[in-house]
Amino acid sequence: MENVVTNCLDDPDIAGIACTGRDVTARVEAQEELRRQALRDELTGLANRTLLSDRIDQALTRAARTGNSPVAVIFADLDQFKLINDSWGHAAGDRLLMQVARRLTEAARDADTVARFGGDEFVVVCEDTDQPSAQGVAEQLQKALADPFDLDGRRAYVRASMGIAVSPPHSAPDLLRFADAAMYAAKAGGPGRLQLFDMTLAEDAADRLTLGNDLRDALARDELALHFQPVVELATGVPVGLEAIARWSHPIRGQMSPQRFVEVAETGGLASALNRWALHRARRDAGLLRSLMPALPRIAVNISVRHLVDADLEADVLSAVSGDELAPHELVLEITESALMENADQTRELLERLRTRGIKTAIDDFGTGYSSLAHLNRLPVATLKIDRSFIRHITVDADSLAITASIIELARSMGLSTVAEGVETIEQLTLLQTLGCWAAQGFLWSPALAPEALAQLINRLPDRRFDVRLAETSG
Ligand code: C2E
Ligand code: CA
Ligand code: CA
Repeated sequence: MENVVTNCLDDPDIAGIACTGRDVTARVEAQEELRRQALRDELTGLANRTLLSDRIDQALTRAARTGNSPVAVIFADLDQFKLINDSWGHAAGDRLLMQVARRLTEAARDADTVARFGGDEFVVVCEDTDQPSAQGVAEQLQKALADPFDLDGRRAYVRASMGIAVSPPHSAPDLLRFADAAMYAAKAGGPGRLQLFDMTLAEDAADRLTLGNDLRDALARDELALHFQPVVELATGVPVGLEAIARWSHPIRGQMSPQRFVEVAETGGLASALNRWALHRARRDAGLLRSLMPALPRIAVNISVRHLVDADLEADVLSAVSGDELAPHELVLEITESALMENADQTRELLERLRTRGIKTAIDDFGTGYSSLAHLNRLPVATLKIDRSFIRHITVDADSLAITASIIELARSMGLSTVAEGVETIEQLTLLQTLGCWAAQGFLWSPALAPEALAQLINRLPDRRFDVRLAETSG
């Protein structure tokens, strides 16, 4: 009830106190609903970000009052949610998120807060919980996701990568940031993992920051180099391609692993700067190589398209093939399978436009990501590069052999060529020839070399062909 009391003593007609009562249930309910909506995630009904930081703050305040019992934050991110969203549609994705929310809520303890942080990210806040118990809770949460989800009769298996941070720090943003960093580390180890935050992760983040700055300077000053590894046609021994691989000698740390600095570039907002550098350097080196050897094989440049699609990439690629050094049909872009599948829709159109200009694409590290065949079919790619991890064990491990054979078969049925990576032995070569693989690269023939050394190597070969006959006689 809302009561209004009006003093009408001075009013000669009334000469009294007037009370008016009104039933405002509907208005209060509407206000509460608005408040609830402001603090709740619309889709799942879980706490939203605002309520989440409130809850963490409250938990930290209570903890301080009761002698600092620890507060744990678990940051969970679904693995491959994008794939389900992209292949089965957003409605299916929404239903999955609702089911995940329900299972997480049931698996968490009554006192815990379960929140949706955004997209496919969930956070659970546990009061009075030390590291071992937080790990126990996280394991329960993962167990709750183990059974398949039913999305309109289709079964989906979903796992989550989880990061755990326990106070101190005594601030909500810091706890969330630490748990998020731990989650990223968990994800890097593969799907469905748990990772506790520790200071080495913070140091790693700081290290990444300085390395990122150094890399930015090095790219601007053109201090990296490209080395080239020949790709050899298995039927003829002809070098049909040269993969350009970046080399960076850090002024203090020395030779850096590309794995490390490419990752630094991708997480530090330098991916397009690295792409631009590699494309322009490839153009310049192509001019040099052309002057050193009679026939220039195709040049394959590794391209990072992690996360957001790079608005400059198209312009950078076209500019690399705009001069006399490198023709469009002489350039191949290598994009990793996981990056392609994460951005399938946006990337497809870009690659399609580049293909009409004569520029081809190869899927790098094929077999390690989670390609959906539907996507693969629609992507304008020419080549699948079979990941080194399969080739390494191909002669001893039946699974590796079966996977390699089926990738070659799949490629054949789709009219794509196959390149095997990391061939080191004649036995591997023989097997790949038997399977009908088109080409391969690896230390069996040559590591990546500076342009001059590479041209010298090829020019010295009889007939400018690599040796693949050994395999013919044994096969
Ligand atoms: P990747 O594209 O798979 O490149 C081939 C890697 O395999 C290179 O490692 C090469 O040295 C190695 N390799 C070649 N043959 C053999 C072999 O027979 N045995 C073994 N064990 N390894 C072999 P590297 O130089 O460490 O490069 C690692 C990754 O860094 C590359 O993997 C590529 O994804 C990335 N990368 C290199 N250069 C660039 C670049 O310019 N841009 C981008 N975005 N990524 C790059
Ligand atoms: Ca590559
Ligand atoms: Ca590769």
